[in-house]
Amino acid sequence: MAYKISEECVNCGSCEDECPEKAIIEKDNFRWIDPAKCKDCGSCADACPTEAIAQA
Ligand code: SF4
Ligand code: SF4
Repeated sequence: MAYKISEECVNCGSCEDECPEKAIIEKDNFRWIDPAKCKDCGSCADACPTEAIAQA
């Protein structure tokens, strides 16, 4: 299962910088994970200051 970003996201961009698959993009003032690209590595979740990222 891919990781997902919740409404706790404050759009800081840390997760996008950490993602080795370039699966995270900015969308409507939040970040969004493309489930087709996400490889479930967890790096984004570790980098998120608001704990907005979790495995779905
Ligand atoms: S779990 Fe890994 S591959 Fe998936 S979005 Fe996060 S950093 Fe990218
Ligand atoms: S690291 Fe967390 S708060 Fe920052 S853009 Fe990503 S999901 Fe949003």
